[in-house]
Amino acid sequence: MAGKDMRKLRDNGAFDFVVVGAGSAGCLLAARLADGGRNSVCLLEAGRKGGDILYDLPMLAGRLYLNPKNNWSYHTVPQPGLNGRKIFLPRGRKVGGSFIFNGAQYIRGNRSDYDQWAQMGNKGWSYEEVLPYFKRSEKYLTASASGFTNGYHGLNGHLAVGKPENPNVLTQAFLQACSAAGFPLNDDFNGPRQEGFGLYDFNISDGRRCTTRRAFLDPAVQKGHVTLVPNAEATRLLFQGDAVDGVEYQAGDTLFTVRARREVVLTAGAMNTPKLLMLSGIGNAEHLSALGIETRRHLPGVGENFMDHINVAIFHKAKEMVSLGSVLRWDRFAAATLNTFLRRRGPLSQSALEAGGFFSTRPGLEAPDCQAVFVPIPGTAAKIKAPWAETLDDHGFLMPLWPNRPVSRGRIALRSANPRDDIDIDPRFMSYRDDLETTREAVKIGRRILATAPLDRYRGIEVSPGKDVVTDDEIEAFIRENGKSGHHACGTAKMGVDAMSVVDNQLRVHGMRNLRIADASVTPTIVTGNTNAVTIMVAERASDFALGRAPVAGSVPA
Ligand SMILES: Cc1cc2nc3c(=O)[nH]c(=O)nc-3n(C[C@H](O)[C@H](O)[C@H](O)COP(=O)(O)OP(=O)(O)OC[C@H]3O[C@@H](n4cnc5c(N)ncnc54)[C@H](O)[C@@H]3O)c2cc1C
Repeated sequence: MAGKDMRKLRDNGAFDFVVVGAGSAGCLLAARLADGGRNSVCLLEAGRKGGDILYDLPMLAGRLYLNPKNNWSYHTVPQPGLNGRKIFLPRGRKVGGSFIFNGAQYIRGNRSDYDQWAQMGNKGWSYEEVLPYFKRSEKYLTASASGFTNGYHGLNGHLAVGKPENPNVLTQAFLQACSAAGFPLNDDFNGPRQEGFGLYDFNISDGRRCTTRRAFLDPAVQKGHVTLVPNAEATRLLFQGDAVDGVEYQAGDTLFTVRARREVVLTAGAMNTPKLLMLSGIGNAEHLSALGIETRRHLPGVGENFMDHINVAIFHKAKEMVSLGSVLRWDRFAAATLNTFLRRRGPLSQSALEAGGFFSTRPGLEAPDCQAVFVPIPGTAAKIKAPWAETLDDHGFLMPLWPNRPVSRGRIALRSANPRDDIDIDPRFMSYRDDLETTREAVKIGRRILATAPLDRYRGIEVSPGKDVVTDDEIEAFIRENGKSGHHACGTAKMGVDAMSVVDNQLRVHGMRNLRIADASVTPTIVTGNTNAVTIMVAERASDFALGRAPVAGSVPA
């Protein structure tokens, strides 16, 4: 590594397990591996430990991810499918990972996602087999129509899951609009069926974001069961033959090593897990040798199979000053902040992505092919104003929508052997026409919903796509010019049995010993939903694999 000889290399001891990356997966995994103090666990995190009280406020998520201190702030290479634009890809860089500023929506995906994984050769990953692991971490707070006991929810975990208490009046009108447009209402997207529209479940409890850090890691660190090392960026894996026995990391200007007696588990996320593998000589031999990295294991799938959801939003101005934009005035913002911290109530204590749903653009699909979200606020960049400056312009609503199972696949590659160098991320967004056409049809359906009578009272002009965007060609051009990442990067070290897979069905890296991956990188396909819940489920399963425990038996409620 460049400059290595200039720095000291310090030996920082040995642990049973070393976990790299304190994100959605790593925070849960480290705590589980510690097993109540029976195993020693070191958790390395490149980002800071804390100090941002505002991150507790769920509604501010959309603004706080703009803080570069807590964000890897990746951009793609220019995307031909999106008019050559470089797309912003935020990723959390702080203890807590991307969960510190994500939308906190808790959505597991469709049961057929997991049955498909099992059919692809991933024994043990059918819906029936993964359901107990979703339930194990969950503390479900809101009874659905079918009750707490519909069999799909866990009540005894630590990860809070519940619905917004006071949805905005626009959200209520939106749900009536969905009904008026002929779509079913659904109060449990993680329950018996996924189709339909309703209020989302969120990882929020008592007005605060409930991350895996808060739910699992913080208590384990407080009890001394996990040694958390913040500001520690892993730079390469250490080996003895084909066994991984430690990690080199950089803190400040110093390189350290930490040894793992049993295993190293990578939870550095879908961008940085493949980066660390490649820096360590695990990846496509041709790519590695071009950069002067010695190949330890030729695994051509490392960094390939990059998937994400691309969304575009329909945006309307409002005719009444009732949107969540109401809170973006100094006086109300101050009152709402106090309300949140003192009483754990009020608009700032809820996510702005209150409702949405799953629908199909064509008949006969095994799972809904699109998701739409309803956001009763004009946009995440809205500024806080003086009370007298509030106008109708500060009010509106957004409807981002996207295809659930995009066909486009991209890749991540190193630029050099220097860990401090950026990576090239090329998602190849919209490289398949299918993705463009599905998005186009989703926009038409979204417009149909927003045009129904229940929203007549509130609906102002459609700002985007706008009245001039009508034909299929015009909608497609709008998508290419406005498509953005849905922030669901995954799949870059996929589980499987084919030549492009990186880990086996117990998440062990093919051909290596003592090395596992347990984050969003391993999903062989992107799920029909958001990607946090599935990542947490992966970490739950990884903990049992690493501890040698028999899988929890499950069944799907009749
Ligand atoms: C803005 C945004 C909104 C989102 N909204 C939602 C939502 O509402 N619902 C949902 O389900 N999903 C959502 N997601 C996606 C979800 O947050 C991710 O899928 C999930 O957090 C991935 O978890 P992970 O553990 O794989 O990675 P992360 O949570 O990103 O964690 C990786 C951690 O590893 C650390 N790290 C990286 N490299 C190194 C290294 N070399 N050494 C040490 N540490 C390292 C990082 O700093 C980070 O803390 C959103 C994502 C974003 C970015």
